[in-house]
Amino acid sequence: MDQIISVSHKYYRKEHSNNAKKHWFVYFYDAFGLFRVKRCNKLQALYYKTRIKKGVTGICPNCLKKFTVYDKNTICPFCK
Ligand SMILES: [Zn+2]
Repeated sequence: MDQIISVSHKYYRKEHSNNAKKHWFVYFYDAFGLFRVKRCNKLQALYYKTRIKKGVTGICPNCLKKFTVYDKNTICPFCK
């Protein structure tokens, strides 16, 4: 898992039962840059939550294009 975007849960109800189970899902980009969703348990969900990269939209001073900055070392992807 390269870039975790978010972790969320869905309620899953079985018929004839009042117990609603939580299913956790992690959304991420893999090593090939493909968006993927994977089910995980509660403990894994907590772990993945700490690894979410929060990007901020920044504007490159050279080409004035918008791109997502994850940390201060991010280089503009348009004019490397
Ligand atoms: Zn640029």
